[in-house]
Amino acid sequence: RAKSDGRGMYRFFEPAMDEEAQSRRALEQDLRSGLAAGEFELHYQPIVKTDGREITGFEALIRWRHPRRGLVAPNSFIPLAEEIGLIVPIGEWVIRQACATASRWPSHMHVAVNISAVQFRQAGLTEVIVGALAASGLDPQRLEIEITESVLLQDRNGTLATLHQLRALGIRIAMDDFGTGYSSLTYLQCFPFDKIKIDRSFVSGVGNDAGSLSIVRAVAAMARGLGMTTTAEGVETDEQRDRITAEGCTEMQGYLFSRPLPAAEIERRFLSAEAPVRPDRFAA
Ligand code: C2E
Ligand code: MG
Ligand code: MG
Ligand code: MG
Repeated sequence: RAKSDGRGMYRFFEPAMDEEAQSRRALEQDLRSGLAAGEFELHYQPIVKTDGREITGFEALIRWRHPRRGLVAPNSFIPLAEEIGLIVPIGEWVIRQACATASRWPSHMHVAVNISAVQFRQAGLTEVIVGALAASGLDPQRLEIEITESVLLQDRNGTLATLHQLRALGIRIAMDDFGTGYSSLTYLQCFPFDKIKIDRSFVSGVGNDAGSLSIVRAVAAMARGLGMTTTAEGVETDEQRDRITAEGCTEMQGYLFSRPLPAAEIERRFLSAEAPVRPDRFAA
């Protein structure tokens, strides 16, 4: 290999690989120092009932306020954080922060937190959640965790045990991005989900193609039959909202109602006594 001929030769023959490895190492360093420096923040997106259009709670979504790159979206750093294990301390911060913020909201408002498969398999997740609930005083019934199908692929018994522990505490479990992973209907029967979140890729098609509409209809019916609720993700238009509602989904979430916003903005717009009159799109 070129590498054995020395550093200069290596660089000459494999510049692309070298650059990629370097920028990865730089990002890795940045992520570690970013966590230590408190550069992560949570934004929150309202979740709205189809029936009555009340806000039932908010999903916490992480952002990285990078000193040079600005606000960085999770898809640009979560995969690397998972690879290097940094998702575990980041995820713990997310849980504590989300619980602390939600404890200031009116007591009927829920908060949903995304948990990575890597973090889910880490021993001590339940203790971290219990600790965050105790420190914030948040009622466990107000916390929901969102996991994806990838969590279910490994260590079925361990996963089941953790899910049952969390449910026994009163926490609700949602299956996120349903239909995009290694979906198996067996999972829905074997694992104790309270809610299915129907992926945006199906929701965005409901006005345009019969296939997407059929899938949304079928998932909503199946969930009802299994005693689970459904949330439609990524609702952007009035038409999508109306069709989702007609198909009997329980809740919806999307830019039509609001983008994810910093906690202070959420409180000002949706939760304060002086909150502006709710916009038309919320009106049932
Ligand atoms: P997700 O959990 O499925 O979150 C929904 C994503 O869809 C969010 O992207 C949200 O901003 C976006 N979204 C919501 N409504 C609309 C809409 O109407 N149109 C469009 N185009 N997009 C919409 P975001 O915030 O970039 O997050 C992406 C993913 O990153 C999340 O997908 C989740 O898998 C992951 N993520 C976010 N925060 C966390 C976290 O704290 N921990 C972990 N482990 N993962 C996180
Ligand atoms: Mg989610
Ligand atoms: Mg999702
Ligand atoms: Mg997603």
